[in-house]
Amino acid sequence: MNSENGVISMTIAVIGAGIAGVAAALDLQDAGHDVTVFDKSRGLGGRLATRRDAAISLDHGAPGVVAHDAAFAAALARAGGAVCPDYGFVGQPGMSSLVKGLADGIAVSNSVEIASVDPTRNGIVLTDQTGGEHGGFDRVVMAVPAPQARVLARDFPQADSALAAVVMAPVWSLLLAFDTAQHLTGATSPVFDAVVHNSGKPGRAETPDTWVAHATPEWTRAHLEDPRDKVLEALTSAFAGLSAAPLPTPIYHTVHRWRYARCERPLGAPFVEALGGRLVIGGDWALGSEAEDAWRSGKAMAQALLA
Ligand SMILES: Cc1cc2nc3c(=O)[nH]c(=O)nc-3n(C[C@H](O)[C@H](O)[C@H](O)COP(=O)(O)OP(=O)(O)OC[C@H]3O[C@@H](n4cnc5c(N)ncnc54)[C@H](O)[C@@H]3O)c2cc1C
Repeated sequence: MNSENGVISMTIAVIGAGIAGVAAALDLQDAGHDVTVFDKSRGLGGRLATRRDAAISLDHGAPGVVAHDAAFAAALARAGGAVCPDYGFVGQPGMSSLVKGLADGIAVSNSVEIASVDPTRNGIVLTDQTGGEHGGFDRVVMAVPAPQARVLARDFPQADSALAAVVMAPVWSLLLAFDTAQHLTGATSPVFDAVVHNSGKPGRAETPDTWVAHATPEWTRAHLEDPRDKVLEALTSAFAGLSAAPLPTPIYHTVHRWRYARCERPLGAPFVEALGGRLVIGGDWALGSEAEDAWRSGKAMAQALLA
């Protein structure tokens, strides 16, 4: 810890650059602490995700974010979010832009997957997947899905029992692009929870015509370990069943498996504490299943470290 002008500044690591991790990082940095965010992926946003492939861009995670809290709505608007009647706030040009907009000024180390947390040395030392060490940090915020947090916090029994009670559901998502506009009948399918006309959202190119369809947790659980080509075929066929006309060959099609997509049984508290309060663990799953729950958890974790 450093003391400058009587203010004690801590070094703080945030694991996870989803909306929870970024919300925590912002408040901690604003309070004068030295914050570093680590994320295993190449970008930011977590499940507020956008896949880009040449001229094609699709939001393959949350299609939008509903904000009940006025401060959250204001933050999303500042981050460039546009309000869309069907889905709430959508990032522009993609959902991940919302988190990128919020994270302006935050130092993020991408492609760093934290594999272990060692509190027994000088500060809390994080080791990544290549054996590289980071820290020691005075405090750590872990803002990753509960089952992944459980692996990282395996040596902290107090956290483990709380994390074990959280249930998260998987989702297979189908991503499609066509060079002509497709129209659906309006019928529903037992396979899908949501079918999203991605290119119909504000701030997206009208062409190609892009769609994202999220399978139900039940369907996904039954097909979780199926080969990707089999899942692609089954989901495309289910999507074709919703189409008003025979489905043309897509110009792009793939599937994405979210192993931990939506929380089915939340913790019921804004975060889990370990190491006598030096480690806090949270995310959407702490309070619910929505991005706003993640944001609230992230802010609560920051508040706890600042208290
Ligand atoms: C298909 C789908 C549809 C959804 N629909 C909606 C919706 O309509 N409305 C809504 O509000 N919400 C929706 N959600 C949920 C919403 O996306 C989440 O609630 C929110 O994005 C969670 O944010 P988070 O920061 O808690 O976690 P995440 O976004 O999961 O962020 C965690 C981050 O941690 C990183 N990470 C994980 N492990 C490590 C590690 N070991 N080392 C380093 N980094 C690590 C990950 O790469 C990720 O970036 C949906 C989600 C999915 C998948």
